[in-house]
Amino acid sequence: VCVTLNTNTGVVPLKKLKPNGLKVLVVGGGGREHALVWKLRQSPRVSEVYCAPGNAGIEKIAKCVNIKADDVTGLLTFAWEKRIDLTVVGPEAPLSAGIVDVFNDHEMPIFGPTQKAAEIEGSKAFSKDLMQKYGIPTASYGVFTEVEPALAFVDELAARKTIAGSPCVVKADGLAAGKGVIVAKDVTEAKEAVRSMLEGNAFGSAGSRVVIEEFMEGEEVSILAFTDGDHVIPMVSAQDHKRIFDNDEGPNTGGMGAYSPAPVYTEELAQQVQESILKPTVEAMKAEGRPYSGVLYAGLMITAEGPKVLEYNARFGDPETQPVLMRLDTDLVDIIEAILEKRLDQQAISWSTDAAVCVVMSAKGYPGDYEKGNFITGLDNPIAGVEVFHAGTAQKGDHVVTTGGRVLGVTAKAQGIREAIELAYRQVGNVCFDGAHYRKDIGRRALERLS
Ligand code: AMP
Repeated sequence: VCVTLNTNTGVVPLKKLKPNGLKVLVVGGGGREHALVWKLRQSPRVSEVYCAPGNAGIEKIAKCVNIKADDVTGLLTFAWEKRIDLTVVGPEAPLSAGIVDVFNDHEMPIFGPTQKAAEIEGSKAFSKDLMQKYGIPTASYGVFTEVEPALAFVDELAARKTIAGSPCVVKADGLAAGKGVIVAKDVTEAKEAVRSMLEGNAFGSAGSRVVIEEFMEGEEVSILAFTDGDHVIPMVSAQDHKRIFDNDEGPNTGGMGAYSPAPVYTEELAQQVQESILKPTVEAMKAEGRPYSGVLYAGLMITAEGPKVLEYNARFGDPETQPVLMRLDTDLVDIIEAILEKRLDQQAISWSTDAAVCVVMSAKGYPGDYEKGNFITGLDNPIAGVEVFHAGTAQKGDHVVTTGGRVLGVTAKAQGIREAIELAYRQVGNVCFDGAHYRKDIGRRALERLS
């Protein structure tokens, strides 16, 4: 089969999904993709699930194919040859590389935003400028490519700061797997961060432009939302834990755990976020000629002045997806179909009232250089109510071994947050690999809020 990439990015043709017997391809190989495969397999409409490249856990419930997640041509060729009916994209890299545009050009149904729409995540400068232009609440900021004006802006923000705490946050503009953000504790550290990104190449080309922004005080909440470009329906709230150590200490990671719902996120806040953030964002993207279809993730800070946007992601978040999808009762294929057909407003979406908690087990050394190749035991027969989603794992002969920094996302669903936490940690205790690290306080903040 010869697949040529055509660059015709005109009107996207709409190809209807078959009612059943669907062959689905999930792109990616982390915990989020394991959760997506797990959920899609439950759909009575789906007959086969493929995953590229997948991992040892996904291999048990889907057919893994050895194609990298950012190999757009390889994925297109595979999907074409296998007559894949629907492709669901997990990570940001293929979205930023334009996988959705390429599949659309070939009239192959795919779920996710186009390259131009995915820039809402791919460039922090773009998303900050968008928020400023459309009045979407966020921290005040500056964008710099030169060191001297950047350093001057650090001084300016520090001078404005009337309360104790970090003077500012320094962010690499491009994609840096959630690690290109430095919350500086003082001016000296902020200036070092600026220099290391702009002069020292700390994040490669992702750091050749930096965003410096005001530090926001508050509690963080992640809101993932389904959108077809016109309508936007938020999912249940979640809270993740970005720092490597308990009590939010140590460096930022891709995420060490998450729970859903987030008790801080009241119905009133949800209304406010829908009206002042989610709807205006989708409208802004449309007005900019970048209509957004897929999952829009808003990382929010609940400040004394109300909810403000920390960042957008152009996809399901990892690990928030794991507990959120465990609570989704509706068939995910039906929701995706409604989005592809631009009738999301007519799609009912129901959620379990249970709580869900995901505890990430990571490899020794993560988020720095980490160990690989350690045998993992205790994966079989998890406790009822628990799914052990794999992230950085591979099958090696009869053994499952560690291959990534985040290795597993042990996710439990139960009637209340307390029960879900207990269940998740009980399962974590059954799993073992050399150098395993996990936070002991996932969900503690939710418990404190409820007690
Ligand atoms: P981001 O990738 O932009 O979401 O940043 C990663 C993490 O850094 C966030 O989840 C926050 O914990 C922290 N952070 C980022 N920007 C700010 C800010 N302006 N104020 C306080 N914390 C921040």
